[in-house]
Amino acid sequence: MNFNSLQFPSLKFNYEFGKKTWFGSGGNCRYFLRADSLKQLRTTLKIGKNILPIFILGSGSNILVRDGGYKGMVIKLGSDFKKIEIDKKKNILSVGSAAKDIEVSKFCLENNISGFEFLSGIPGTIGGNLKMNAGCFGHQISDQLLDCTIIDKNLMTKKISKKNINFNYRNSSFSNEDVIVEASFIAKRSHKEIIKKKMLEISIQRKKSQPVSSRTGGSTFVNPPSHSAWKLIDSVKFKGKRLGGAKVSDLHSNFLINDNFATSMDIELLGEEIRQSVWNKFKINLNWELMRIGEFKKI
Ligand SMILES: Cc1cc2nc3c(=O)[nH]c(=O)nc-3n(C[C@H](O)[C@H](O)[C@H](O)COP(=O)(O)OP(=O)(O)OC[C@H]3O[C@@H](n4cnc5c(N)ncnc54)[C@H](O)[C@@H]3O)c2cc1C
Repeated sequence: MNFNSLQFPSLKFNYEFGKKTWFGSGGNCRYFLRADSLKQLRTTLKIGKNILPIFILGSGSNILVRDGGYKGMVIKLGSDFKKIEIDKKKNILSVGSAAKDIEVSKFCLENNISGFEFLSGIPGTIGGNLKMNAGCFGHQISDQLLDCTIIDKNLMTKKISKKNINFNYRNSSFSNEDVIVEASFIAKRSHKEIIKKKMLEISIQRKKSQPVSSRTGGSTFVNPPSHSAWKLIDSVKFKGKRLGGAKVSDLHSNFLINDNFATSMDIELLGEEIRQSVWNKFKINLNWELMRIGEFKKI
């Protein structure tokens, strides 16, 4: 059996992968498939893992696909992975990895659960959040985590408790072959009005300080120890700077923007120019937070 014989209606060839990410730049992938059930996911992984690279896509809000595309298969998790449920007796929130952050935060508001207000401002999915240990305004996704269910590289389904996962700043110990399928969290009870107020404050703060309606991938670089990436970038006078169609945001200099039909090469080169300038001036290494995947386009 090969992918061509898979009878999945969602299977696409030469799919516009890069164009579907938040940046909206970059090349195609060889295969794209939406797995709506655990059975479909397992079958796809079983066939795919031995013949080509596989990338699990969340909302595409933290990735830059290079212009030469991805010579592998991209899998997006569908309907069965979007559940959001509360066990009111045990106060446990169970969330599928394809559930969108905004949907989780709305569900928590409706059910008077606190600690997830910060998700209302992050445009990802729970799977992407856990892989990146996403967070903002003093909260991160691992804070209230109890455990995660994954399919590992040997196609074993495993429930891993939080104590066996290393979470660091914008980083986790999940391997690139682990597929996160669901997670459960402690559901702390609070009052709707308090939760609503926090979500509103976050929304106001974000709109003031981040280019939330631009084509971007969020923070470009992780903050080096004891430094803010945006302050370092400001100091080397890159705020508003352009390269081709790419631009450093005027609102937040750690955000790169696809401002005018940028190629992924424009965006990546602008990032590399920033890294070089910060290194030249401060001898500080800025590490990429954005995940850059795929191949450069051959000229
Ligand atoms: C406007 C904007 C604002 C942002 N603000 C913030 C912020 O405040 N804080 C913050 O931390 N981030 C922020 N981000 C970055 C981004 O939203 C987060 O990193 C988010 O967690 C990525 O989730 P995603 O679903 O889009 O993942 P993707 O970008 O699709 O993927 C990211 C990584 O997660 C992996 N992944 C996704 N799903 C799974 C899964 N089910 N199993 C295994 N691996 C998986 C992918 O393979 C990839 O390695 C922002 C981005 C934008 C565009």
